[in-house]
Amino acid sequence: MALNKKSVDDINVSGKRVLVRCDFNVPLKNGEITDETRIVAALPTINKLIKDGGKVILCSHLGKVKNGPNEGESLAPVAKRLSEKLGKEVNFVSDYNVTGEAATAAVNAMKEGDVVLLQNTRFRGQEETKNGEQFSKELADLADVYVCDAFGSSHRAHASVAGVTKCISAKGGENAVGYLMQKEIDFLGNAVENPVRPFVAILGGAKVADKLNVINNLLEKCDTLIIGGGMAFTFLKAKGMEVGNSLVDNEKLDYCKEMMDKADKLGKKLLLPVDTTIADHFPDPIDGPIDVEVVDADKIPADKEGLDIGTKTAELYADAVKSAKTVVWNGPMGVFENPILAKGTIAVAKSLADTDATTIIGGGDSAAAVNQLGFADKMSHISTGGGASLEFLEGKELPGVVAADDK
Ligand code: AMP
Repeated sequence: MALNKKSVDDINVSGKRVLVRCDFNVPLKNGEITDETRIVAALPTINKLIKDGGKVILCSHLGKVKNGPNEGESLAPVAKRLSEKLGKEVNFVSDYNVTGEAATAAVNAMKEGDVVLLQNTRFRGQEETKNGEQFSKELADLADVYVCDAFGSSHRAHASVAGVTKCISAKGGENAVGYLMQKEIDFLGNAVENPVRPFVAILGGAKVADKLNVINNLLEKCDTLIIGGGMAFTFLKAKGMEVGNSLVDNEKLDYCKEMMDKADKLGKKLLLPVDTTIADHFPDPIDGPIDVEVVDADKIPADKEGLDIGTKTAELYADAVKSAKTVVWNGPMGVFENPILAKGTIAVAKSLADTDATTIIGGGDSAAAVNQLGFADKMSHISTGGGASLEFLEGKELPGVVAADDK
């Protein structure tokens, strides 16, 4: 998906009311923000709009809001932290209705460069439903222009992500993407659609079933597809190997065979583990002590479980990365939450850190692993959206991206 979408550099917001959909879905503990990454990531777009004289109205969801509006999922802590980061007042509209009288009054009182934050969009149940038209319209009524900067939510056709754009367009307003969205789409889009080759894709994580479309799509786009993590064992079993008690998805054996045939036909390299780190059982607790040994992939005893790639595999995968010009990685190579079983994931992370190739980390666990292992600043791009980046890698169009105006 090449980005030919209007960005905040292409619109004139001076004196206009700009509704910005951010991803302020930050982790909270006892009302305190424990990781402010998402707030920091939103600052460039917000600062640009302030500088250009827009009246900046921010909205976001926070948490799942399963039992209706509640103070525990209010955006109040975000307003406070954001105000500190921007060095200016953020007028928080705490009304659980999100839009309505209080929001309208706050927006009417805005001057150029002012910032208002609306309440958690999921406090309005309509946000996530197909009949979100009314909420979409109420959001759009507050603004002249709309900017989407919430990549992590862009795979959902929610009211504040997609629905609102139709109402903004209907009254002649513009819909653009923010800098964060633009960066995500530029990196992921270029890597998948227009990669500098050789292009190596690395997939890991627990289950094959979660990544069927990613495997299929990336196999078509990349030169080498590397499989690690729990999902590798379904491939090994499909090749006729004994995998003991390792994680296997028996219903996906045919699928794995199909993918291996497809790789052959397309002339693509598909690398699977040649050895594996095994133990008697899954660690309990997950980061607790565990006795392990490394065996060849075709020598896994029936009563053992493969929990990480082995040393030879780590070298093989690192070599493949060395020869690449573009690398996309999604999913850990083993149970990386346990230091004894994190070696394969660390080796792969290190090989990415050491290369000059463009390195892109899909969100979720691989992003967490790279951050946790201290390699974050060595990567070209770490996606902020787990589900969204996976759908992107599946080749799907993201509603939040599609909804922005073309340039
Ligand atoms: P995913 O969410 O699909 O990216 O999967 C990430 C999870 O896969 C992590 O919690 C890992 O502990 C788990 N995982 C990775 N390798 C294995 C394995 N060999 N056996 C069981 N779980 C694994």
